[in-house]
Amino acid sequence: MEEEKKKRYMTQAINDEILEKLSLKNRYSFLNTNLTAILESKDFNFLKKIQKFCMRFEKKNNVTHAPDEDIYSWIPAFGAEGYITRAHSFEMCDVNYENYGVTAEFMRCLAIDFFEPQFALAGGATVLAINPLYEHHENIPIRLEVLKNFVIGEDIGAILITEPERGSDAVHMLTTCDDQGDGSFLLNGEKIYNTNAPKSGHVVAYATAEKNNGNTMAQFLIDTSWDGWKCERVNIPYVPKVWLGKETLTNLRVPKEYVLGGVGKGREHLFEGLVPERIGIAIDCIAQCWNAVAHAAIYVNNRKQFDQVVLKFQGVGFLLTDLWARLTNVTLGLLMFAKNYDSKMEKFGGKLPKNISQALIASASQFKYHAAKLSAEICYEAGNLMGGAGLCDNTLMEDLVNMSRIAEIIGGSRQIQNYVMSMSLRQVYKMSGI
Ligand SMILES: Cc1cc2nc3c(=O)[nH]c(=O)nc-3n(C[C@H](O)[C@H](O)[C@H](O)COP(=O)(O)OP(=O)(O)OC[C@H]3O[C@@H](n4cnc5c(N)ncnc54)[C@H](O)[C@@H]3O)c2cc1C
Repeated sequence: MEEEKKKRYMTQAINDEILEKLSLKNRYSFLNTNLTAILESKDFNFLKKIQKFCMRFEKKNNVTHAPDEDIYSWIPAFGAEGYITRAHSFEMCDVNYENYGVTAEFMRCLAIDFFEPQFALAGGATVLAINPLYEHHENIPIRLEVLKNFVIGEDIGAILITEPERGSDAVHMLTTCDDQGDGSFLLNGEKIYNTNAPKSGHVVAYATAEKNNGNTMAQFLIDTSWDGWKCERVNIPYVPKVWLGKETLTNLRVPKEYVLGGVGKGREHLFEGLVPERIGIAIDCIAQCWNAVAHAAIYVNNRKQFDQVVLKFQGVGFLLTDLWARLTNVTLGLLMFAKNYDSKMEKFGGKLPKNISQALIASASQFKYHAAKLSAEICYEAGNLMGGAGLCDNTLMEDLVNMSRIAEIIGGSRQIQNYVMSMSLRQVYKMSGI
């Protein structure tokens, strides 16, 4: 007897024909048709190259996207192809990507989010540990080694900002760092919700010399095999394949070479990391929205009720076109931001002047705020347009709706983005000389 093909869930509600139409290949085709007139050929070719890799990987490894799949075991294969991050060329650690920058990251995320949204989230958390190492490696060999291993997928990274008692109020930390007089520090305290931490070989963590004093914050690279590191898994049911950590640091000794920013430097380093983090989340949200709209568009063009494809009913067609129009417009805005950012980075030799990077704080919050809100609406509504199949069947809609539930919390909640934006608005008003 022929062995039954492995599926995401064994009981299938959706019919075979529509399920096949929802394939990764077809969803990519829908996306690409939408982007044909928008993307430059260099970006489009890069997108298609990663899509090809993802399609082959899915087929070769019989990936079903079932909840028990180990997404972390895929990281080395994606790292070897250069698909963990394209934020920089990483020439300082002999990686030398030719195609890099925010636009390249946008393309990478679009392809990978379509393939597997939870895998994209885990990869994104490693990037959060890559960014501070990129900025503060100071050519110290161990930092370059860890940086390279993150980039090529040989190690998994995490960022430890949040604490059980300090979430939004991240600059009033309780985790302490005590200077030992020889350049090393002892860390004590607790961190929580740190994406990937239970799977990480190294993490980047913040602590403070004096509790609740943002001026005494420092930034450290930690090897998770050191004494004093304890990490338990925090379960977030919306993303069952992603491992988050709750850490207890007990007299954890950090040697001098691992101090990325000494006492007084931590807050600046933290804010420097928030801009790329928020833009990255906005890109992820937009990618998830396209995946959801692709699912819905394929479904409603094939599903028949009352003897007609359901797209033709105004309630369905007009809702989907409303989502589609708004998504296209935000995509154009984000792409324009990405292109502008990349050309400015080129112009200023990879280091933006302070006034420009200051202005980006508002842009990053605006995009993160808008894209996260849009993803909550689009993923939910697109799922709705698929009826029962959007809730229970062998598609990624379930993951997309779930992922959209966490988007407004990660990287600073909706209200914190509002708070950042209102401060920026005050500044813009003052600068306008009114
Ligand atoms: C899936 C997931 C992944 C995460 N990954 C990481 C990670 O990799 N690394 C890491 O360090 N952290 C991570 N976090 C933590 C995340 O950044 C925090 O959960 C977030 O900053 C909110 O903190 P909190 O949960 O303590 O909520 P709180 O700060 O307690 O907020 C509770 C509520 O109060 C509101 N609020 C708080 N302050 C204000 C204010 N001043 N004005 C208006 N409203 C306010 C918030 O908006 C929220 O609605 C992750 C969280 C999740 C859920």
